[in-house]
Amino acid sequence: MALKKEVIARLQSIVGEDRCKTSIAERYVYAFDGGIHREVPDVVVQPINTQEVAQIVKLANEFKFPVVPRGAGTALCGHSVPIDHGVVVDLQRMKKIKEICVEDLICVVEPGVVCDHLNAALKKYKFFIPGPASSEAATLGGMVACNASGDKALKYGATRDVVLGLEVVLPTGDIARCGARSVKGASGYQFEKLFVGSEGTLGIVTEITLKLVPLATYRAGCVAAFAHIREAGQTVSDIIAVPILPSNMELMSGTCIKAVNKATGLGLPEVDAILLIEVDGNNLQAVREELAKVTEVCKKNNAVSMDFSEDPKRLEELWKGRKQMIPSLSALREEYATVMLADDMSVPISKVPEAVVRFQEVSDRYDIEIPAYGHAGDGNLHTKVLMDPTNPDHWRQADKAVQEIYDIVLELGGTVTGEHGIGITKTPYFRQERASLIAAMKAVKRALDPNNIMNPHKIQEWENGFITHLRYPVEVSQ
Ligand SMILES: Cc1cc2nc3c(=O)[nH]c(=O)nc-3n(C[C@H](O)[C@H](O)[C@H](O)COP(=O)(O)OP(=O)(O)OC[C@H]3O[C@@H](n4cnc5c(N)ncnc54)[C@H](O)[C@@H]3O)c2cc1C
Repeated sequence: MALKKEVIARLQSIVGEDRCKTSIAERYVYAFDGGIHREVPDVVVQPINTQEVAQIVKLANEFKFPVVPRGAGTALCGHSVPIDHGVVVDLQRMKKIKEICVEDLICVVEPGVVCDHLNAALKKYKFFIPGPASSEAATLGGMVACNASGDKALKYGATRDVVLGLEVVLPTGDIARCGARSVKGASGYQFEKLFVGSEGTLGIVTEITLKLVPLATYRAGCVAAFAHIREAGQTVSDIIAVPILPSNMELMSGTCIKAVNKATGLGLPEVDAILLIEVDGNNLQAVREELAKVTEVCKKNNAVSMDFSEDPKRLEELWKGRKQMIPSLSALREEYATVMLADDMSVPISKVPEAVVRFQEVSDRYDIEIPAYGHAGDGNLHTKVLMDPTNPDHWRQADKAVQEIYDIVLELGGTVTGEHGIGITKTPYFRQERASLIAAMKAVKRALDPNNIMNPHKIQEWENGFITHLRYPVEVSQ
């Protein structure tokens, strides 16, 4: 254990012995997120209020140990993996919904509140907060830190769009408040937005004020099947150009369809690609007319079949199947695992067809299965690499293929992540994308975190490759 006994005793005096975890069994489960990296923290602490968080961070500055905030640990790029060990601050016990004020169109929550729990509480007021596919587990703190978003982002926005105010324990241990309870604000630097997407590197979020989004009364959807993925991609940008903003528009390629059918028995048509499209609104006639226009566009792009539904139960079933994509892909082939590489990218909407076709070409060229799916309506695509993660050759091949995929994304004017963030895994491509800003980002980090204690080595700070600190038993020489 690298931390001095004195430090552990001081941590115990802040949170109490029962919320200061030091045994290997208790710490080991904090060594991972949903990605490919692993490192075990020295200690895990579970604060229950802002004052405890502030005291932990002040102690970290005194003894210069790393502090890694953590929500549910569902991020996919090693975000909360403690590369330099130190202390993981588990915020899941700060889980109070402090206020729901529909008259002000806001709610105020602690960071450990789970997205689905908040939405269950908001449902009776007919509001919601748009969340990621991991909403059953993801915390609001983690969503803010990653600027998470999901299938409803095209119409209803990402986390950044609904954050109005934050309380943050800065890397010095000082407590700062930014933003406000008002839905509008132009008060100087928008620090509440800077912290969104900062992945725990600029402070620990201890309270979040969110703008409520009204729930639509009616929904209607369809599953449109295509013989060629390019036609599905073209349909996406043609629908947007109508203009129609569907509440969901998801693309699934052939491998993904097979995986979801195998895991869930949903019976989706096994073609080259399908689109799951949903429109919503408060006027049933208008919703039906919108779906009719969507149908016309699908037909124009040679949809081979279309399956319609206004039944909320069936629609939920379809979205549940889509949400289970990652475990479904993992269960597809016994000898391979779904590895979180090139997991998330975003391209201009009109470039979706070209992107998916070119990803497929990379997959064929390297003879690696790289299934594509995603929230295609906003240009956000996901791929995964199906490989044997204990085979060094697979890593070397994947490394080259992933580089080519991100080269394509950047050439098309896209970004290396639409929603999952950078962590460690995407750092090489992030540096490529943001080369002209890295120095400025490092300066911001130094200004706020002079002792570099807050989730060190993440985003712009990691300068090595991504095949590092792997959770798999494999040595990969490059
Ligand atoms: C099956 C699956 C599906 C997913 N689908 C989506 C999706 O559709 N869209 C999407 O955007 N993401 C998705 N993700 C990724 C992930 O779930 C989201 O990024 C989520 O918001 C992370 O929340 P968390 O509570 O698990 O955060 P964690 O994984 O615990 O932490 C993520 C980052 O946030 C920081 N952090 C956590 N809490 C705080 C805090 N209070 N203050 C400061 N920093 C903090 C951590 O240090 C870390 O850097 C998916 C993941 C899985 C496993």
